[in-house]
Amino acid sequence: MSHRPYTRRDVLRAFGAGAATVALPGCATFMRRGPGAGQRRPPNIIFIMSDDHCAQAMSCYGSRVNRTPNIDRLADEGMRFDNCFCTNAICAPSRAVILTGKHSHINGVATYAHRFDGAQTTFPKVLQQVGYQTAMVGKWHLKSDPTGFDYWDVLIGQGPYYNPTMICNGERRDHTGYTTDIITDRALAWLESGRDAGRPFMLMCHHKAPHRNWQPGPDHLTLYDDVDIPEPPTLFDDWSGRGRAATQQEMTIARHLTPADLKLKPPADLTAEQRAAWDAAYNPKNEAFEKAQLSGRELVRWKYQRYVKDYLRCVASVDDNIGRLLGSLDRAGLARNTIVVYTSDQGWYLGEHGWYDKRWMYEESLRMPLLVRWPAAVQAGCVNRSLCQNLDFAETFLDVAGARIPGDMQGRSLLPLLRGRAPRDWRSSVYYRYYEQPGYHNVQRHEGVRTERYKLIHFYRLGEWELYDLSKDPDEMRSVYADPAYADEVAQLKAELARLRKRYRVTDAADREYDQLLELRKKKSG
Ligand code: CA
Repeated sequence: MSHRPYTRRDVLRAFGAGAATVALPGCATFMRRGPGAGQRRPPNIIFIMSDDHCAQAMSCYGSRVNRTPNIDRLADEGMRFDNCFCTNAICAPSRAVILTGKHSHINGVATYAHRFDGAQTTFPKVLQQVGYQTAMVGKWHLKSDPTGFDYWDVLIGQGPYYNPTMICNGERRDHTGYTTDIITDRALAWLESGRDAGRPFMLMCHHKAPHRNWQPGPDHLTLYDDVDIPEPPTLFDDWSGRGRAATQQEMTIARHLTPADLKLKPPADLTAEQRAAWDAAYNPKNEAFEKAQLSGRELVRWKYQRYVKDYLRCVASVDDNIGRLLGSLDRAGLARNTIVVYTSDQGWYLGEHGWYDKRWMYEESLRMPLLVRWPAAVQAGCVNRSLCQNLDFAETFLDVAGARIPGDMQGRSLLPLLRGRAPRDWRSSVYYRYYEQPGYHNVQRHEGVRTERYKLIHFYRLGEWELYDLSKDPDEMRSVYADPAYADEVAQLKAELARLRKRYRVTDAADREYDQLLELRKKKSG
């Protein structure tokens, strides 16, 4: 590995004034004791990501359904981003965008069926080149082995909630226990005694939870047993104000949850002790359900409660484990100059519009939570509303480390925003594209553009467009695409979509590639 010592120019580049900026309202420009001012060491980075954890299930984002005290600490002590959006709302593709700073059609992972090419440039590799130690622990899910890490310890594929086998630097290791706890144990082991304390580090701690099928940990099996979780106002949406795509999906709480999702049967491969705890929690609940004999809306309501409580129990373990990581940083005196980022790979439906899952460019699925705590440089308790994307994460990590951002990365460093400044030429729209159809949950392929106020979506295989005026219709209940009052907006947004396609060099190659992968799969199985 080539090490390059930090030069004064690197530090100035990372923390000095860049392009023309304006102060963000409510965020004081925070530079008086930033690194570079008396700090010789570039910041450490802990990048925590969970899978499918939506902002609606975090109290720092105003959750109506749960409390997340440890995650809230990051918001209280750092910056909360309210307009962070993914480019393609599905797990593996979002991970590939984050690693490369490039859209799906460039990084090669447009769908679950694609395999990540680990030979391409990623931000961990560039961090290594400037002297960082890098580690990746937890969910990887990109089909190829991790590259660019001094240490990696990852689940196989999606990985189970209990008793996972993990691959540690190429070697299989079996673990007994709850996966969210084990991932944190492995991350802490590296953080506390596995790394070289003399060099800056970047640690990725990536949880499987709260991904489907939402199996809670032993500490939270009966959490929420004695409460009703509030229902979203759109639980019984009939999608009448939208086009065909919304009516064709297969992700309803009413019809598409399986007996395993609803815990009508226990998970396989529990230890005897885990199974006893599981049965003690779920057998009484299942007996009560069998007695109740529900149907119609009452059955949907029961499924909603069952689903959302298990999801929130999984979130509770993620929150506990973030508390463990923050506690370790405090004890080691590392908190001040360590950037802690918390996000999830995309948004998620907690019953809004009657749904679970993601994939859509609609708001709940598109929106990513993003919290950044960095006491040495970020003002505590600040909220940012600039349009950001997972496309920007790689550039941001490189920028804070003083590394050169490769010219072919397509996002933009969030560092000025973190310091309370907004560059005058910051983006005013984001591009989105989803490819995986045919696929799970039958969400049609679509692309689109979102601005602060509007969202234009093109379901290009259906030949249908939708337009939402988010200022008047934040829940996206009625497309106004055909409303003549919005003709000017439609024309402007179509022009903006064309501009973004050109800027990001969008072609239809990824569509054709996915069609070919499906064809190949059909031949193999036939
Ligand atoms: Ca996900």
